Amino acid sequence: MPAGGDMIKLENCLNKAGAEIPLTDEEALFILGLENPLALSMLFSTACALRERYFGRKVFLYGFLYFSTWCRNNCSFCGYRALNSGLARYRKSAAELVNAAVGLRDAGVHLLDMTMGEDPFYCTDQSGEQRLLELVRLIKENTGLPLMISPGTVSREALRLLAEEGVDWYACYQETHNRSLFQRLRPQQDYDLRLSRKKDARQLGFLIEEGILTGVGESLRDIVHSLRVMGELGAEQVRVMSFVPQANTPLAHLPTPPRSRELKIIALMRLLYPQKLIPASLDVDGLAGLKARLEAGANVVTSLIPPRSGLRGVSNSTLDIDEGCRTVQSVSVELARLGLEAAAPEDYVNWLARSRERLPKTG
Ligand code: SF4
Repeated sequence: MPAGGDMIKLENCLNKAGAEIPLTDEEALFILGLENPLALSMLFSTACALRERYFGRKVFLYGFLYFSTWCRNNCSFCGYRALNSGLARYRKSAAELVNAAVGLRDAGVHLLDMTMGEDPFYCTDQSGEQRLLELVRLIKENTGLPLMISPGTVSREALRLLAEEGVDWYACYQETHNRSLFQRLRPQQDYDLRLSRKKDARQLGFLIEEGILTGVGESLRDIVHSLRVMGELGAEQVRVMSFVPQANTPLAHLPTPPRSRELKIIALMRLLYPQKLIPASLDVDGLAGLKARLEAGANVVTSLIPPRSGLRGVSNSTLDIDEGCRTVQSVSVELARLGLEAAAPEDYVNWLARSRERLPKTG
């Protein structure tokens, strides 16, 4: 049982959050510092009640198409970094990608997330950008699904063309909003450029997703700061993922953090932003990790990947994929166990339309 004073403080915080009164930074820090099981269970149930207020029992499902694992960067936490020569990489053909995309659409995902490393084939010059646009056009034509693009820090012009193609979302995770930690995680990358691309994307009419990595040396105050920046950016989808050590990387020695940290951040995101989309990624702990993330207040299942397609995830890049556990069918069984269900396709399309109406008008 937490000390009486802490319990009163927690109840005050949760009552405020339930009434959608903004929490202060100190209250957010207090939430992130909770350890007691009773306190955590109160936190998670408030987060779920807020999710239910805006989304009912419905959950959105995102298919993941990691179409190129080539990258010019050397992020210290990432197994796909350019200097990792011990990795079998791929760049999927258009036909392979369409096949996987149509399969995901037919299975019932609500959106396709087209992700790549910063592959020079697609992002160094105009002809690369054209290749990327053609791929996007092909996926859009063949599936008709909403699209998210996660191409890294591409040019503003490339973003403008992607917006013209009807791509709905731009995802580009800063990982941290502590500049010195950013430099250690994303060496030789420009903090301001990465952040400004998200602002550009919003001006161009994209919805944006912002994300952080936890367990990489960030402080609790850094996390609170990141959540504030996400709000200031106007990100409609906000995420956190636990760091998972990758072989042949500078951070290979760093242990993965206890999952309670990620779960508390998910719940705090829900307290601060009841109406935003918050992912429960299958990429960190596979299907076994879904329940805890949904019970912390997440409302989107991400990283569904067709089995035996040769497509990979990111942090646990093969976990549960060929076993068929990262499919709509497997996830739906888990949702039903939790009293949740996959939303209808029109629910997602309507949510997108309402969110677009809230975007700042430009021009
Ligand atoms: S995180 Fe992305 S940009 Fe960084 S090395 Fe990995 S694939 Fe490349």
